[in-house]
Amino acid sequence: MTEQQKIFMKMAIELSQEGMDSGKGGPFGCIIVRNGEVVGKGCNSVSSSKDPTAHAEVMAIRDACQNLNDFQLEGCDIYTSCEPCPMCLGAIYWARPARVFYANSKKDAAEAGFDDQFIYDELDLPYQERKIPFNQIMPKEAKTVFENWQKKENKTLY
Ligand SMILES: [Zn+2]
Repeated sequence: MTEQQKIFMKMAIELSQEGMDSGKGGPFGCIIVRNGEVVGKGCNSVSSSKDPTAHAEVMAIRDACQNLNDFQLEGCDIYTSCEPCPMCLGAIYWARPARVFYANSKKDAAEAGFDDQFIYDELDLPYQERKIPFNQIMPKEAKTVFENWQKKENKTLY
């Protein structure tokens, strides 16, 4: 761990405390850095914004992408106060940053009442055995749109 990494993680941890204290949501904060400069930040805002996807990492990714005017975080480092949940893990992979640093572990989060193990468990189950059943309907109709996408010219690939 470098001195600079320590500074950025400290900022993410401070943000987690501030977000909690100001009533935005749970105790989670995230900072996104490119070339030694903070380009985005966010704290958990689930309860205040009535948005179940408003996790710190998602908020910080949205902020950084707006600031960088891009939909990818190439060359960016993510500093998050806690190991990302499966949703944020997915969001991080879509955003394609260079590295992720986290402070609290999944185990620490579970002990504090934020257990996301049930989502990992669901991934291993067949659709019909999941708590939320997934049912495929009308795939043929929907696939037409994919075919149209493949034929479409002047599209932005991501
Ligand atoms: Zn998350």
